[in-house]
Amino acid sequence: MSIDGIANGIPAAPAVLEVDSVTKTYPSQPPVMALRGVSFTVARGELAAIVGPSGSGKTTLLHLMGTLDKPTSGTVRIAGTDVAELTDREVAFLRASRIGFVFQQFFLAEHKSLLDNVTDGLMYAGVRLARRRELALDALSAVGLAGRAGARPTQLSGGQRQRVAIARALAGEPAIILADEPTGNLDQSTGQSILALFEALQQRGSTIVLITHDISIARRMPRRIEVLDGRIVADTRGEGAGVADSLAAGPPIVQPAEHP
Ligand code: ADP
Ligand code: MG
Repeated sequence: MSIDGIANGIPAAPAVLEVDSVTKTYPSQPPVMALRGVSFTVARGELAAIVGPSGSGKTTLLHLMGTLDKPTSGTVRIAGTDVAELTDREVAFLRASRIGFVFQQFFLAEHKSLLDNVTDGLMYAGVRLARRRELALDALSAVGLAGRAGARPTQLSGGQRQRVAIARALAGEPAIILADEPTGNLDQSTGQSILALFEALQQRGSTIVLITHDISIARRMPRRIEVLDGRIVADTRGEGAGVADSLAAGPPIVQPAEHP
């Protein structure tokens, strides 16, 4: 049993994501070595933060984990499949069916209802329309917005918009959700409520990797992978103040704030 399979004393869960000796050099002039040999695995049901200062390689790493870009060397496996061994079509299907993305900028279609925004996210997952609507409503209800399914994003606050984007990522029941600075456009307390939502989704069984430059956000997560200059400099578990830890160890350091 590998060390990576043990989280909080719970026996090994299969790895959803394996990043093995990955490097990435952008062929710019001069070339930029954004990742210099990165290895880690994420087990099913984990909530992990990748944290590091601006320019340390976090977004590059997210693109590789999300099959949006290819490593210069090394291997990325999603649910046991080596992405490099797939055709472009197979990679596109893997991405659509197994990976949910959340970005700082939300990327919602402003003229469409929340339900259509979330339903559209399932377009390529090989699911019929009636079932897509059902999954979309379930996902909106998981983020507390089922009652607003007919509203337009323009009628929502920033925090509510990000909840819609999270519902869209969640709806296809992906193997893993990848979030790049998901609280970057939100005020402090709204950001905290989004983190509380990620914690609640983990409790429901989701696997989530959250990228942030904010150490106070990372500290709240059950696992923190710290990157600096394209390398992992620390990978720690168990000291976070998140929901799972707070159940065992008293109240969280940061109280989740909930906005209506
Ligand atoms: P972070 O998300 O941690 O801020 P990035 O992954 O965006 O870091 O960038 C890591 C390094 O790679 C930085 O030096 C950045 O300037 C460089 N970089 C990112 N994208 C490209 C690109 N398309 N071409 C050349 N250099 C890039
Ligand atoms: Mg970035």
